[in-house]
Amino acid sequence: MSELLQCDIAIIGGGACGLSVAAVAAQLGLSVVLAEANKMGGDCLNYGCIPSKSLIAAARSARGFVSSAPFGIEPKTPNVDFKRVMEHVANVINLIKNSDNGIDVFVELQEKQHTIHGSHLLVATGRSPNITGLALEKAGIVYTLQGITVSPRLRTTNKRVYAIGDAAEGYQFTHITNYHAGIVIQNIIFKIPSKVDYRSIPWVTYTTPELAHSGLTAGEALKTYKDARVISLPFGDNDRARTEHMTIGNIKVIVTKKGKVLGCSILGEHAGELIIPWIMLIKEGKSLRHLTDLIIPYPTLSEVSKRIASEFYAPKLFSDTVRRVVRFLKYLG
Ligand SMILES: Cc1cc2nc3c(=O)[nH]c(=O)nc-3n(C[C@H](O)[C@H](O)[C@H](O)COP(=O)(O)OP(=O)(O)OC[C@H]3O[C@@H](n4cnc5c(N)ncnc54)[C@H](O)[C@@H]3O)c2cc1C
Repeated sequence: MSELLQCDIAIIGGGACGLSVAAVAAQLGLSVVLAEANKMGGDCLNYGCIPSKSLIAAARSARGFVSSAPFGIEPKTPNVDFKRVMEHVANVINLIKNSDNGIDVFVELQEKQHTIHGSHLLVATGRSPNITGLALEKAGIVYTLQGITVSPRLRTTNKRVYAIGDAAEGYQFTHITNYHAGIVIQNIIFKIPSKVDYRSIPWVTYTTPELAHSGLTAGEALKTYKDARVISLPFGDNDRARTEHMTIGNIKVIVTKKGKVLGCSILGEHAGELIIPWIMLIKEGKSLRHLTDLIIPYPTLSEVSKRIASEFYAPKLFSDTVRRVVRFLKYLG
């Protein structure tokens, strides 16, 4: 017999989004009903971010064996026990909850079958939200293949329903789910009209080395800011990168003429960590000056960020005017 549940907020999906909103709402004393059709934790915990990063960590550990020669350590072929690697992955999932000689790939393209032979496989087909079975039309909720259409307040075309995370049109990242959860909590619970602001949204591609980005790309910036400048610096000049043999990489920053930061891309080891101060500068609309004023520990990879900021101001610091002032001060004794 079905029972009609009364609640303040009904949430469909117990992924990162649903769980974040449910936890906050419940802590604030609201009654919440959460429906989950598969595993609690959704894609991120069970199939996405956590399993993939646990696998990457295992792969990095194995790679240490074969890439040790530059450090004077004899390389060895590691013995990979994949069953135990997968146990490690399962352990990490549980903890948070509470490659090769030839791959044969069988694919179907436009109903024709092809077999492709290769050594590495990168699946980059993208993902689309699973919203077709929800009978959204009956509730007057508009959606496209990219997800449910939402306003900047994350409201759907039915004012009583919000869509967040992967289900909503736009970015599909776990950090977006947290952000969206905060926005809807402000709107639904606190009645504060809060809107999304995607200007500093970061993303990281977890390759070796990593690729991290926040804000505008150079192409996007030049459309709006005619005076936008692109400055870049290779990792090779960084002392810590040299000690670690991590010299492959580059930092690229897009700024206005006055040094206001519009975007940043970093390719290099730990790029996902190095991007953090840049997210803050972009979000707050700050200039590179905020980095030149920082005292940064030596030797660290983070010095690349201060160095690129200093390079931007170098032409002004060593301009003819400044040199004349220095000559004059010297003359005064
Ligand atoms: C391989 C992979 C790697 C990824 N790596 C990263 C990463 O490194 N960093 C990052 O930021 N993001 C990453 N992502 C994306 C990230 O996993 C998603 O953005 C995030 O999980 C979205 O959370 P969500 O709560 O919106 O949706 P989901 O996690 O998909 O949760 C939705 C939940 O709703 C349930 N559900 C669906 N329909 C119904 C229904 N009708 N009734 C009841 N329940 C229902 C589902 O079972 C699911 O549990 C990765 C994704 C994949 C696939």
